[in-house]
Amino acid sequence: MRQFLSGWGRYPEIEASVDMPRDLQSLRAAILDGRGAMIARGAGRSYGDAAVADHVISCLPLRHLLAFDAASGMLHAQGGVTLDDVIGFALPRGWFLPVTPGTRFPTLAGCIAADVHGKNHHGVGSLSAFVERLEIVLADGTLVPCSRTEHPELFWATHGGMGLTGVIYSLHLRLQPVRSAFLQSVRLRTDSLHETCKLLCATQHRYPYSVAWIDTLCGRRRGRGHIMLGTHATDGRLTPLHRAPRWTVPRLPTNLVRRSGLRPFNTLTYRGQWRRRVATTVHYEPYFYPLDAAACWNRLYGPRGFLQFQFAVPFAGAEAAMEMVLERTDRAAPCALAVLKTFGDHPTGPLGFPLPGFTLALDFPRTGAIETAVRAATDDVIAAGGRVYLAKDSVITPEQLDAMYPRVDEFRQLRRQFDPQGRFRSLQSDRLGLS
Ligand SMILES: Cc1cc2nc3c(=O)[nH]c(=O)nc-3n(C[C@H](O)[C@H](O)[C@H](O)COP(=O)(O)OP(=O)(O)OC[C@H]3O[C@@H](n4cnc5c(N)ncnc54)[C@H](O)[C@@H]3O)c2cc1C
Repeated sequence: MRQFLSGWGRYPEIEASVDMPRDLQSLRAAILDGRGAMIARGAGRSYGDAAVADHVISCLPLRHLLAFDAASGMLHAQGGVTLDDVIGFALPRGWFLPVTPGTRFPTLAGCIAADVHGKNHHGVGSLSAFVERLEIVLADGTLVPCSRTEHPELFWATHGGMGLTGVIYSLHLRLQPVRSAFLQSVRLRTDSLHETCKLLCATQHRYPYSVAWIDTLCGRRRGRGHIMLGTHATDGRLTPLHRAPRWTVPRLPTNLVRRSGLRPFNTLTYRGQWRRRVATTVHYEPYFYPLDAAACWNRLYGPRGFLQFQFAVPFAGAEAAMEMVLERTDRAAPCALAVLKTFGDHPTGPLGFPLPGFTLALDFPRTGAIETAVRAATDDVIAAGGRVYLAKDSVITPEQLDAMYPRVDEFRQLRRQFDPQGRFRSLQSDRLGLS
């Protein structure tokens, strides 16, 4: 089967051959059929070129829940099961994802390959903290079970390994018990980046979830915004909504995301909350997945798409580093959306992204100028002791990767051990010298 694939941004659609294995046997056959280089693909929700290659193994048909222990919340599922599938099955039974990114459409395996984090990293870490065991098909077709005690190097290299160790066939994930589909949310309004950072740090230990939206287009008060804190409600209402997206953005001939529109939009959003503190009860869908309300929202950026720059910097010096990045990127393009979170100190694999500190994600309309600015800003991040998130990256250089991921050589060595012929490759891994 041939299909057009693209990342969410710069990449022109490339025509790829796509295998769609339906079970373990056909997955092995797809890997062994001798066509050379390939990469696993989930729901294609990573923003760059990590799941793009000439030959792709789509794991979407591997979408079966295999077993569930209702006493412990342990779920055994195939890699192509989506987060939305898990919620639909588990929430009515009183269980929820222990960690979730800001969209419910990715697959479990795609989330493991990026070792995704949520709004609760400061407390519990990233998804890997809840994965007990993986079953991975290596490049030679062998199925290798791995865990913290059995082949631990393969287990850890796969978390954050961007599909380069093998194809995750199935996984065992520990869900968290909940008593409601709703969250009790508190929104705090802040007046500056300094106040946003200070309040995020001061409140995070009182709430499992915390995140801030910041306004980057308001001159000297850049970094003012809303902090959204949350905790699961206990009212016994356990209904998933599964709302289909309310709008679908059509293909547009030009970019609609411009500074002239973003400035008043940000001001209205900021002033929309006129009290310093507002407490509400919110369903998990708008709380965790606000962007899922509109399908194909990336089309608002026109044919060139958008670029997200997400980086993490240690707490010490973080504000100065973030100011520098905001200053540099603002000269190149207006930031459409800026989201700030904190990371705690938790174990990661050799290519794990989180480090104790702040993480800032910035969305821009894609232009040559912003690509150049993001590359320069990456050097600012490196100088501050930070790193860029590979699941969102499409522009950094191999030298920058080596400078910011101190365990990258350990990863390269493990990769050679598990895939000596280097058959798992993506556009990203070729660009970054990982394959
Ligand atoms: C609106 C939005 C919000 C987001 N918010 C967050 C967030 O808050 N936190 C966060 O961490 N991320 C976030 N992300 C990023 C997203 O969660 C990750 O990029 C995730 O990896 C996407 O999973 P996918 O199934 O779409 O995988 P793809 O995009 O298809 O692939 C991602 C990587 O996983 C690998 N992969 C896929 N399937 C397998 C498999 N079976 N075996 C081995 N490797 C595989 C691919 O090779 C690739 O390297 C967000 C993305 C969107 C669109």
